Amino acid sequence: MSIQLYNTLSQKKEVFTPINPDEVTMYVCGPTVYNFVHIGNARPVVIFDTLFRLLQRHYPSVKYARNITDVDDKINAAAKANGETIRELSERYALAYHEDMGQLNTLPPTLEPRATDNIDAMIEQIQALIDHGHAYESEGHVLFQVSTDKEYGKLSHRKLDEMIAGASERVDEASYKKEPADFVLWKPSTDDLPGWDSPWGRGRPGWHIECSAMINKHLAKTIDIHGGGQDLIFPHHENEIAQGTCCHNEGEEQFVRYWMHNGYLNIDGEKMSKSLGNFFTVRELLELWPGEVIRYALLTAHYRKPLDWTKDLLASAKASLDRLYGALRDAPLDLDDSVEHPMLSELESHLCDDLSTPQVLAVLHALAGEINKADGNAKVQLQKVLRKAGDFVGLLNQDADAWFKWQPAGQQGGLSDGDIDALIAERAQAKKDKNFARADQIRAELKDQGIILEDSPEGTRWTRD
Ligand SMILES: [Zn+2]
Repeated sequence: MSIQLYNTLSQKKEVFTPINPDEVTMYVCGPTVYNFVHIGNARPVVIFDTLFRLLQRHYPSVKYARNITDVDDKINAAAKANGETIRELSERYALAYHEDMGQLNTLPPTLEPRATDNIDAMIEQIQALIDHGHAYESEGHVLFQVSTDKEYGKLSHRKLDEMIAGASERVDEASYKKEPADFVLWKPSTDDLPGWDSPWGRGRPGWHIECSAMINKHLAKTIDIHGGGQDLIFPHHENEIAQGTCCHNEGEEQFVRYWMHNGYLNIDGEKMSKSLGNFFTVRELLELWPGEVIRYALLTAHYRKPLDWTKDLLASAKASLDRLYGALRDAPLDLDDSVEHPMLSELESHLCDDLSTPQVLAVLHALAGEINKADGNAKVQLQKVLRKAGDFVGLLNQDADAWFKWQPAGQQGGLSDGDIDALIAERAQAKKDKNFARADQIRAELKDQGIILEDSPEGTRWTRD
């Protein structure tokens, strides 16, 4: 089964053929760690995690790098305001990022290079750009001269002269620039700002250079897949291509073969922005919803389409997962990799078709429907199939009982799991003693607390409503 991916470069769906099938390389732009990550930034993490899982099933080795931007003007300003170093601040938020993304059941990337650990590689690439006549030094800055790159604009499909005209309207024509479209590779640092020694004096990198330099250093001159949000196509990824190709001899190396971009996430129909006040962090959402609900909601739309993030979307994702976990009651937690089923192949074919996750979720529900009709060993086998199918997209890896007992962090402080189990035991005893009034009273008391009881041949189960 071949994998087809939409390539922003060609604007077409293409069959994915890696340079080296023994080791596929993928890079995704990671977070700038000065704050908790917002839900819009979680979308590419979940999308490319789903792709990472797919590639791992098809190739023996996948090297997936996702960087951490730990030096940047926003980080510098936040650290200064807190009276701490950028390392202290970025360590704290990198840790929070890992916790939050872990809650969304994303696998750690193979490597996670940090910008400040790779300044040498950036200086080396900037020097190569100067040596090849694509960059120049001016007033302590080093700038990439966009007009020297005939290919510039090929990813965003913009014409160079239009961009230069556009840039001169938008951007300050800084005195150190030869042309308004030129972008910063290196800038000087005053004594109160983080800085590193370089051939151009003490300074710090511009944002774009870290990704192309770390790709060359940690992955290869040419990599298979580069991903990120649509908002990064221009200028960030356009600039990465300019840096990543022009630092080598002309025409020598392609930088990235497949460029993939996910669509925007809108909040209640509006683009998310701090100024509109519709800015949610993943951490805030995790107070109210299980991480798996957030992941499921992010997979309900095709990754290239915009996703409208609403409370209804989350409630419907929760209801969908309740149905799927309902089919996994009493199912073993362990994955049985050996299990096969035509629906698994169907699900995989949707993933191979440019990650068509809405169709994948439909297959999960069809499988749950089959389970609900089955019994005995046939049921157990189908449950194993559903577990494996869920794992393909990072879902359904919990014990079903634990799923139904989940409660929002903000509402904790009510009845504990132990309290509930004790009341259920008391109710069972009351029934045995034919004290049905007490048994009914316990059921009603629990219902008042949002605990729903369900009597089954295996005993009484309960769910937090
Ligand atoms: Zn990047």
